[in-house]
Amino acid sequence: MPMKTNPLTITYFIPLLATLFATLPAEAGRVIFISVDGMRPDAVDVLGPEGAPTFHRLRREGAFTSNARTDKVYTITLPNHTCMVTSRGVVGSEGHNWISNGDPKLGQNLHRNRKSYVASMFDVAHDNGFATALYASKSKFSLYDLSFDASMGAEDKTDEDNGRDKIDHVVINEDTSALMTSLLSDLAVKPADLTMLHLRNCDSAGHAEGWILATGTPYMEALRKVDGLLGQLIAGIEASPTLKGDTWIVLTADHGGLTATKGHGESKEHENFSIPFYTWGPGVKAGTDLYSINTSAREDPGKENPAYTQSYQPIRNGDAGNLCLSLLRLPPIPGSTINSAQDLTLGDAP
Ligand SMILES: [Zn+2]
Repeated sequence: MPMKTNPLTITYFIPLLATLFATLPAEAGRVIFISVDGMRPDAVDVLGPEGAPTFHRLRREGAFTSNARTDKVYTITLPNHTCMVTSRGVVGSEGHNWISNGDPKLGQNLHRNRKSYVASMFDVAHDNGFATALYASKSKFSLYDLSFDASMGAEDKTDEDNGRDKIDHVVINEDTSALMTSLLSDLAVKPADLTMLHLRNCDSAGHAEGWILATGTPYMEALRKVDGLLGQLIAGIEASPTLKGDTWIVLTADHGGLTATKGHGESKEHENFSIPFYTWGPGVKAGTDLYSINTSAREDPGKENPAYTQSYQPIRNGDAGNLCLSLLRLPPIPGSTINSAQDLTLGDAP
C-alpha cells in the first residue's frame, strides 16, 4: 500500500525547510581571523581603492566599521590581542588581566598571571573538535602557545576528548611574506577551521617613522604591503574548492597610533583607540556599516571610548573571539564579557 503524504507536510513543512536552508550557509565553514597590528582605519580612506584594493574590496563585499574600539584602559599590543582571543576587557575582576607587552617571562602564562584559568576562542573551537591555527609575526605571541599547550591548556570536558593543546598549529615568523606563504600552503592542503593571523607591518613602520597618513610614508607603504598580502590570502581562498564561498574573514586591529609620538600607548587618544572591524564571507551583508545592522546591541561611540559599564557598547576588537565562534556555530568563551551573548550580526550570518 502506498504511503500517504499528509497535505500539511507539503503545505507547511517543506517550504519552512526551504526557507531555513536558504538563509543559512551550507555548513559551518571556516574562519580566518586577522589582526593588522597598529592599523588606523582612516589610512584606508587616504590610500583609496587604487592604493588599497583589498581593503576596499572587503568593504565593498562585506560589513565593516572604521569606528571600532580597543579595550578601554589599554591601547597596547598583547593586552588587546588577549581581549580578541578571550572576548574580555583587560582590567578588573572580569578582565583577562594581562597587561605586559613583552615576551612572556619564563614560567609565565595567562592563567598563572590571573590566578585562574583564562579560556580563549581556541579552547571552545578545539574542545568541540575543530582544528585551530595561529600565524603570528611577533615573538610575544608565544604567550598563546604557552598558555594553551598540552600542559597549560584546560582538560577538554566537551564530548570527545580532543586534548589540552588548544592550538594545533603555531607559526611565528617576523617576515610577514614568509608567514603568508606558510598560511597559504597550509590552507591549500589542510586548512584549520579557526585560523588567527597577525601582521605586524603597520606597527613596525609606525614606531620607526610615525603613523603618518600621507602618500609614500613608511606607514602607508606598510599598509599597502598588508593589503597585498591580504589580496594573496583572498586569492588563495578563491582558488580552493574547499574554502571558496565557505570562509569568513574577520579583521580588526589592536590599536592605532600617533603621528608625532611614534607611539600608541596613550589610551585616551582617539587615534590610538579607533580601529577597523571588517567582516567578509557567506551571509555577510555587502557594503554595509556594521553599526547599521546592530542597532539593538551596539552603538557607534562617536569620538569616545565608552566604559564597559555603558549599556550600548561600541564594536570592539574584543568582539572578535565570540564572533568567530558564533560563525562556526559554537557557544561563547567561558568567562567572556564582550559579545558573550553572541549578538553581533553581520547580516544573514552568524
Ligand atoms: Zn600592536
